[in-house]
Amino acid sequence: MTTAISSPIVAAAGGGFLVEERAPAEVFTPEDLNEEQRQIAAAAQRFAREEIVPAVQAVEAKQSGAMERLLKSAAEQGFAAVDIPEEYGGLGLDKVSSTLVTDHISMLASFSTAFGAHTGIALLPVLWFGTEEQKQRYLPKLATCETVGAYGLSESTSGSDAMHIRTRAVLQPDGSYILDGEKQWLTNCDVAGLYTVFAKIVDPATGSEQFSAFLLERGTPGLTVGAEEHKMGIRGSSTCPLVLAECRVPAANLLGEAGKGHKIAFGVLNVGRFKLGAACVGLARVALGEMVRHANQRKAFGKAIAEFGLIQEKISASAARLYATQSMVYRTAGMIDARLAGGGTSEVDCFAEYTVECSILKVYGSEMNSLVADELVATMGGFGYVEEFAAERMYRDARINRIFEGTNEINRLIVAGWLLKKAMTGKLALTAAIRRVMEDAMAPPSFDLGDEQSDPLAREAKALSAVKRMTLFAAGVASQRFMTALENEQEVMGALAAMIGQVYALESALLRAKKLVGKPQAAVAAAMTGLVAAQSVAVCEQSARLVLAASAEGDELRTQMAILRRLARVEPANVVELSRSVARAAVELERYPL
Ligand SMILES: Cc1cc2nc3c(=O)[nH]c(=O)nc-3n(C[C@H](O)[C@H](O)[C@H](O)COP(=O)(O)OP(=O)(O)OC[C@H]3O[C@@H](n4cnc5c(N)ncnc54)[C@H](O)[C@@H]3O)c2cc1C
Repeated sequence: MTTAISSPIVAAAGGGFLVEERAPAEVFTPEDLNEEQRQIAAAAQRFAREEIVPAVQAVEAKQSGAMERLLKSAAEQGFAAVDIPEEYGGLGLDKVSSTLVTDHISMLASFSTAFGAHTGIALLPVLWFGTEEQKQRYLPKLATCETVGAYGLSESTSGSDAMHIRTRAVLQPDGSYILDGEKQWLTNCDVAGLYTVFAKIVDPATGSEQFSAFLLERGTPGLTVGAEEHKMGIRGSSTCPLVLAECRVPAANLLGEAGKGHKIAFGVLNVGRFKLGAACVGLARVALGEMVRHANQRKAFGKAIAEFGLIQEKISASAARLYATQSMVYRTAGMIDARLAGGGTSEVDCFAEYTVECSILKVYGSEMNSLVADELVATMGGFGYVEEFAAERMYRDARINRIFEGTNEINRLIVAGWLLKKAMTGKLALTAAIRRVMEDAMAPPSFDLGDEQSDPLAREAKALSAVKRMTLFAAGVASQRFMTALENEQEVMGALAAMIGQVYALESALLRAKKLVGKPQAAVAAAMTGLVAAQSVAVCEQSARLVLAASAEGDELRTQMAILRRLARVEPANVVELSRSVARAAVELERYPL
């Protein structure tokens, strides 16, 4: 079964949003789903409602078999098979459909973590790098969850610093390998039947090392699953170490080429980050629904708390960030599908092209999910703090998303570093765009909002132009100051990454709102875009101040600050009014309003 995108989506270059203009019709949005995709979303929602919700307590209490039953049941309905081609027992769906499954099945973080690890970082190494024999052997069973997958990269002494693993593999005369070491924190570890494990093949004679990947089956002599970790959140998902003591692995289970394990490790992490962003959309949608329902029902001072402006601010800030994340997630999925449809690109290369978008989704999505969970607790008052209600679990569960799949700090460094590298190698016209902004910087500011009557999103378009220009200006100043040593200035890199993320978020929100003009959802989409715009301008101005102050001093800094003030001069929107209108829409529907 295949589904096709009918709209003229442009497979823009990764990071291209910083330097190119896009028309609304050129980006994919959730409103562009075709009938088959809508049915997939509905089926995933039904599964979550009818099977995950009743199983929450059993899963969270780690009742024996509860997670496996849920995974198998999801697989019976085809959800674990969406990314697997038909010849290996899968459905071979497009990435928008795959994203819909991840998004709408994500109602309980423990399950979405287990499901996401299985369908992402565990299964894709086999699909993308496996031999024909390995694919035939493992993929059909992974598609049905007869075998659950796990991914073992991290170790107790190397998480972020993933290339410094200590697990060793030694080639034996018969072609097999003997593995020794201990992997840490494997999601699904206790329920898995197949482990993708990274180890360095060492040559005892020369001491040479080759970072490589292996497929290890449960039951392999020498492989032991360690004790379950006691975690802050996602308590229903299994996380254990994997001990390898003289573990003999047949030659046929080397995955990909010896010495090329980094391609597998980092290639699949792009998808892991993308899927995590999509999962955060689903999880935050559920949390926002809880927030609005409680705000409607809870009375204080003689009225529903949903009528208070400060509660409305929580609802609208949550809805606006969710809207921005959702817009970025589906825009990215659409670009990936368009690129794949163009042919000539493997899935792994396609996701690699969108490395920066995947990392932004991971960071922005996980921080959005944490914000929504926090605002849910705040809205529920004392009820938010006790285990009896889901808010307490959601708050705990949200934290891990900022840690795994590369911490948010590491992903921020990837966002800025990857773009700078692309600029330096001439693969993205970033340097020219920076030069233009630096040259234009002295031009007087324009307060002309165009024809606001005919373009209700004129203010947001101005804000987008401002955040793009602030970002390019700050990147230009920092590059000139630090040149190739910029990557050592982590605080500056982090601030640039925050700005770059805001550009992608605001542009995706705005393009979607423009696409919705004339449709019933237009007003709420425009109001949420207004809130995203206000936040983006504030974040970018603050981040740019940090970058400039770290890059210059004296008169030079004063001149640059004057330019920044000019670039940041966007007439402020009435965010109080916007917030109230978004909250009203959510409260009326008792859910996320789109
Ligand atoms: C519940 C759970 C499930 C997990 N599932 C898996 C899994 O399935 N497979 C797997 O392989 N791993 C898994 N992990 C491991 C996870 O990916 C790592 O915990 C994560 O990558 C961080 O590594 P670390 O814990 O070693 O922290 P560290 O790398 O020690 O980081 C500690 C802090 O230092 C910061 N830091 C590190 N390096 C830098 C740097 N260069 N610059 C700036 N800051 C830096 C980090 O951002 C962090 O804030 C899981 C972890 C947990 C808790």
